Amino acid sequence: MQGLIFDIKRFAVHDGPGIRTTVFFKGCPLHCAWCHNPESISPDIIHVPKTYTIDGHTFTDQEAVGHHASVAEVMQEIDKEAVFMTTSGGGVTFSGGEPLLQPDFLLAMLETCHKAGYHTAVDTCGQASWSILEAVAAHTDLFLYDLKHMDTVAHKHYTGTNNRLILDNLRRLSAMGAHLRIRLPLIPDMTYTESNLTETLAFLATLPNKPLGVDLLPYHNTAAHKYIRFNKENALKGVNSLQKSSLETLKQRFEKAGYDVTIGG
Ligand code: SF4
Repeated sequence: MQGLIFDIKRFAVHDGPGIRTTVFFKGCPLHCAWCHNPESISPDIIHVPKTYTIDGHTFTDQEAVGHHASVAEVMQEIDKEAVFMTTSGGGVTFSGGEPLLQPDFLLAMLETCHKAGYHTAVDTCGQASWSILEAVAAHTDLFLYDLKHMDTVAHKHYTGTNNRLILDNLRRLSAMGAHLRIRLPLIPDMTYTESNLTETLAFLATLPNKPLGVDLLPYHNTAAHKYIRFNKENALKGVNSLQKSSLETLKQRFEKAGYDVTIGG
């Protein structure tokens, strides 16, 4: 069995506990205005121009983003960092894109990782059928679950889809006792608004089981060059990052509500 992935990041420290290897799946059902990996959204291999300068001569070539890989091939990469992952309390994180978009490959990877003794995490937007999430949950030690916007119209406006399935799946995962960290992308005037933050806190309080924590993910324009390179419209051009003091205030607000909170994951 093969999956379509576009990157494997080693020594990741923001994708779950400890030192991790993060496998990025290609393809996403959402297209968030603030996406840091716009090259991940298409479920196909895409080709983008790449410029090299060698000895004063400039060449432009096409670079493929995404490649097919078998479970064994990905495990071979994961196993290279086994000692760092196991001794740090880390493991393997599946991210994207959206890993749930390739459920059979994701399940095969999760099962193989568990057999090898690795802690597993799935970083998801939650837009998938419940039957997929339920099957994946059996082999997932931690979900990093994105909550983009509580208002369904705003959610559709910024991501292309409404939030009903996402909220419903989160509630069901919580009810079955899945370990969850909630990830909040904080985009000024989009998701970082008083009403959205208030509604987010109110929704989290209604979950059957309290999430293990909340990760505040402030917007940075570090992906701006990707939008230029991939010739995509950057809807966040000119949007500034949040002030450190605003983030600290928000962190305290979620801590006061009883959550373990990180800034940046
Ligand atoms: S869910 Fe994540 S990967 Fe998908 S478009 Fe949104 S930010 Fe990008």
